[in-house]
Amino acid sequence: MSVTDNLRAWAQIDTGAIRHNLNVVRRVMPEHHMMAIIKAEAYGHGLEGVATALDHENLAFFGVATVAEALRVQKAGCSTPIFILGPCFPAEREIIVQHGWRTAISSIEEAEHFDSIGRLYGKKVYTHICVDTGMGRSGFLPTELGGLTDKLSRMEHLQLEGIFSHLSAASEDISFTHQQIRSFEDSVRELAANRKFPYIHLCSSAAVFNYKVPSANMVRLGRLLYGYSPMPSPYNHELRTTLTLYSRITLLRTLPKNHGVSYNHCYITTVPTRVATIGIGYADGYLQYLSSQGARVYINGEYCPVLGRITMDQIMVDVTHMQGLASGDIVEIMGPHVSWAELTERAKTIPSNILTSISARVPRIYI
Ligand SMILES: *Cc1c(COP(=O)(O)O)cnc(C)c1O
Repeated sequence: MSVTDNLRAWAQIDTGAIRHNLNVVRRVMPEHHMMAIIKAEAYGHGLEGVATALDHENLAFFGVATVAEALRVQKAGCSTPIFILGPCFPAEREIIVQHGWRTAISSIEEAEHFDSIGRLYGKKVYTHICVDTGMGRSGFLPTELGGLTDKLSRMEHLQLEGIFSHLSAASEDISFTHQQIRSFEDSVRELAANRKFPYIHLCSSAAVFNYKVPSANMVRLGRLLYGYSPMPSPYNHELRTTLTLYSRITLLRTLPKNHGVSYNHCYITTVPTRVATIGIGYADGYLQYLSSQGARVYINGEYCPVLGRITMDQIMVDVTHMQGLASGDIVEIMGPHVSWAELTERAKTIPSNILTSISARVPRIYI
């Protein structure tokens, strides 16, 4: 009897592989601090499971997107400091200050409000100045930096802890990325002219191995930790798969020739066909966009094509070429044999979209 015996679909998470992927970066840049990005259920791997698995890895910060995520990480008993990556609503600022979570600021109003809340609670507010070097999502513009450090330094309850920015095209546009890096270096020079900032950070996964940022002493690692970042040689074979998505055959039948399969009959059998129905669908995160795109699953060492549309809770696959299958047999939906890269290409999306789509209905099993 195993915990997965009665599951229709589950994600097996290898936390050792996540630590391995972290250490690939550590080995190459031992002097850098590391922020592990665990937003969005740790890219589908499960927030608490990943946070507790990484809590003793000497990370500078956990990066999350929302206050709700920060609360969950804290409730899980983690002691790694928490960094909230983006802007928060005014009503969320009190709880951020109370817990000592790190906050990114993009405006003087945010800074003043945080400072006043800090005064109210007698707490320091650990602040990272966000600079918009080209992402267009948040941050001070480089033209707004003159005198900023002085202004912020006068806010007694702000603890200026970092300067950061975010790259918008690290894997697509090398020359624009170099332009962003130059703008970041200029910004850091201006902001840090008379004052030391403990954390300077720009690169996320796509950039860490491809660009040098002289002033930076921390990297923010998301997709790379989860083994699906494009890596330059000689590192390209070093990342390990961290998540394998499994399901099970629920039913086996033989359909006659000329029988439609799934909604709108996008697939019609041309010969008598052995069809396995499998207990996973788009509500579990097996993207609807994979319908009629040549997607395949892996059963007992063989690839089986998905037939017709993905439905909410089930898919049908062609197993005519296979013997001895039974209801309950395990199916690999994504993992070592069906890569994230393959699914990304067939669904015409990006890898993080595949991973973060795995829904709450799918239990995460940690090994
Ligand atoms: C999500 C996010 C990251 C992580 O990006 P990856 O490409 O997954 O490494 C880093 N920095 C910021 C600001 C983010 O929002």
